[in-house]
Amino acid sequence: MDERLRTDPHAEIREEVRKLCARFPGEYWRKLDEARGYPTEFVQALTEAGYLAALIPEEYGGPGLPISAASAILETIHEQGCNGAACHAQMYIMGTILRHGSPEQKRKYLPKIATGELRLQAFGVTEPTSGTDTTSLRTFARREGDHYVVNGQKIWTSRAEHSDLMLLLARTTPKDQVRKKTEGLSTFIVDMRAALGHGLTIRPIRTMMNHNTCEIFFDNMTVPAENLVGEEGRGFRYILDGMNAERLLIASESIGDAKWFIAKSVSYAKDRHVFGRPIGQNQGIQFPIARAYAQMRAAELLVHEGLAKFEARLPCGEEANMAKMQAADAAWAAAETCIQTHGGFAFAEEYDVERKYREARLYQVAPISTNLILAYISEHVLGLPRSY
Ligand SMILES: Cc1cc2nc3c(=O)[nH]c(=O)nc-3n(C[C@H](O)[C@H](O)[C@H](O)COP(=O)(O)OP(=O)(O)OC[C@H]3O[C@@H](n4cnc5c(N)ncnc54)[C@H](O)[C@@H]3O)c2cc1C
Repeated sequence: MDERLRTDPHAEIREEVRKLCARFPGEYWRKLDEARGYPTEFVQALTEAGYLAALIPEEYGGPGLPISAASAILETIHEQGCNGAACHAQMYIMGTILRHGSPEQKRKYLPKIATGELRLQAFGVTEPTSGTDTTSLRTFARREGDHYVVNGQKIWTSRAEHSDLMLLLARTTPKDQVRKKTEGLSTFIVDMRAALGHGLTIRPIRTMMNHNTCEIFFDNMTVPAENLVGEEGRGFRYILDGMNAERLLIASESIGDAKWFIAKSVSYAKDRHVFGRPIGQNQGIQFPIARAYAQMRAAELLVHEGLAKFEARLPCGEEANMAKMQAADAAWAAAETCIQTHGGFAFAEEYDVERKYREARLYQVAPISTNLILAYISEHVLGLPRSY
């Protein structure tokens, strides 16, 4: 047995996730990709196995696993050629309710999220006009008696058609009336089932990979005041609190992607014979694979350092951001190598390389783009002047 597996506290989880993923081979994802379909059966299987509830504490019906276990689950899903983007948010968005929700909200939602009875997959932050400049978002929630009336628009709200609830960030005090632009934003739990057709419209966006992402429109959509999370005006802080977990988990998916591309490259480089010998005998083929492997292992170390600090409740913004960037870069380097190793066959759908290539590219842009990570490191780690 590999020494790393012996010392890995989550080796058993990885093994079980591998078995589950084996039921969803490339052919399954290829068909969905063609139809831009949602992997309902795959998400159902993960839900039934309890994986999507990994981070929910036992008192609310989950197994209360540490974030490193969630990381192992998502990494393995991607390492096996599957795609966690269909459901990863169910794991971590609930953290906002767990940390900042009222006791009633926790009792009402978390146990049902743990069983999968309620899907909290949608996260409405990004808007078309403000983009990365989150505090300039325009969606406004106006308090009227015992409810809020919401107007505005979100874009790239992934899984909106496959979620019962959405965590929504909206302005509740105009930007020009707050001391700091980060104030006056609030977080709401929106019951999308009740709102659909009553002020909420969802419109899917066709993208280069199968991601089930949407734009959504709010036209006098009402949200009960009891669905406000925490205090009005402090929502931006609540969302930021969840960012490190999100970065580390997405980084884990990219590590899994890199491992998939590397394994696929190695296998093909051994099997494919040209000029009477395996192509992997050529340094021009083996060196890029070896380099991609080294890059992946370096990124993996950063992910593990971030996870360890997160679990020790130490500040880990630096590690979480760098891990996300390095892992996305490592996945992309491995993806490039995989294409080059496969030559023309990389472009044939049945090899799954081109599909994974399209899927892996996203993580240099979302959920945070590389430039913004570099801006974070410049300002918060190196003490350089803020650039925006
Ligand atoms: C498939 C997909 C799924 C997504 N899912 C979700 C979701 O579920 N929920 C959600 O809320 N959002 C989601 N997003 C949105 C995603 O988080 C944003 O696309 C991402 O944060 C970048 O924002 P933007 O697209 O508005 O780019 P912009 O902000 O318009 O930026 C464009 C480019 O300019 C760069 N840039 C902007 N400002 C600066 C600066 N000051 N310094 C240097 N560079 C800068 C950016 O880094 C980027 O490269 C998703 C996006 C995609 C594509």
